[in-house]
Amino acid sequence: MTGDEGAGDARSQELATRLRAVEERLTRACEAVGRTRSDVQLVVVTKFFPASDISGLLALGVTDVGENRDQEASAKAEELGLMDGADSPRMHFVGQLQTNKASSVAKYAYMVQSVDRPKLVRALDRAVLSQGRMLDVLLQVDLRPGEETEAAPGRGGVAPAQLWGLAEGAQEAEGLRLRGLMSVAPLGEDPVSAFGRLAELRERFIADFPQADLLSAGMSADLEAGIAVGATHVRVGSAILGLRPQAG
Ligand SMILES: *Cc1c(COP(=O)(O)O)cnc(C)c1O
Repeated sequence: MTGDEGAGDARSQELATRLRAVEERLTRACEAVGRTRSDVQLVVVTKFFPASDISGLLALGVTDVGENRDQEASAKAEELGLMDGADSPRMHFVGQLQTNKASSVAKYAYMVQSVDRPKLVRALDRAVLSQGRMLDVLLQVDLRPGEETEAAPGRGGVAPAQLWGLAEGAQEAEGLRLRGLMSVAPLGEDPVSAFGRLAELRERFIADFPQADLLSAGMSADLEAGIAVGATHVRVGSAILGLRPQAG
């Protein structure tokens, strides 16, 4: 280290320190419930942060990143060479997605975790088929209590009552591989109780869709609660990258 990398070097060190702390939390959370660290995939959510941070994270061994806006994600994907066929990092799309962005997202996404309505299933299916590829998808579940009819605006997600119908559509889509469920603990609710409902729902879901056994649950504030209910993926942003300039 020559010291002339300046700000970039300081940023790398900061990312390394924060990543190490999150790794320790993940290991402890797994041990606490008799799981192993390798059961859980860390997806580092890099929204609002530059592609140079993604490169820094890759150098530290991160393999999977998450983004929640197509415009930002596609710019970074281009910068990282994903549009030219690079297969690292694996980019997970975790945000609310408009159907007119489906074909853009299909160009760089390794997985779309936020599928929450039949129209989006159809749009993604058409997009990947026209690009001659397959796409792994998770269905995002809205865990807000009492949200059994129509999802109110906000973070997105299908109401549990509509989950089975959505899953059947995703399973029939030739270009999609239905891999599991994703959820965000509702604001203001204890994540342990929210993820408890998710675990119960998932158990019934897997009985009908046994190949859809992935579960993406847990973020910076509640990754332990996600791991306790069997999360296979956690999506961690601010604990590694620092506070975002605005809420997202
Ligand atoms: C931003 C975001 C995350 C990461 O949130 P942090 O609290 O910063 O860890 C996880 N999941 C989704 C869907 C997000 O939009």
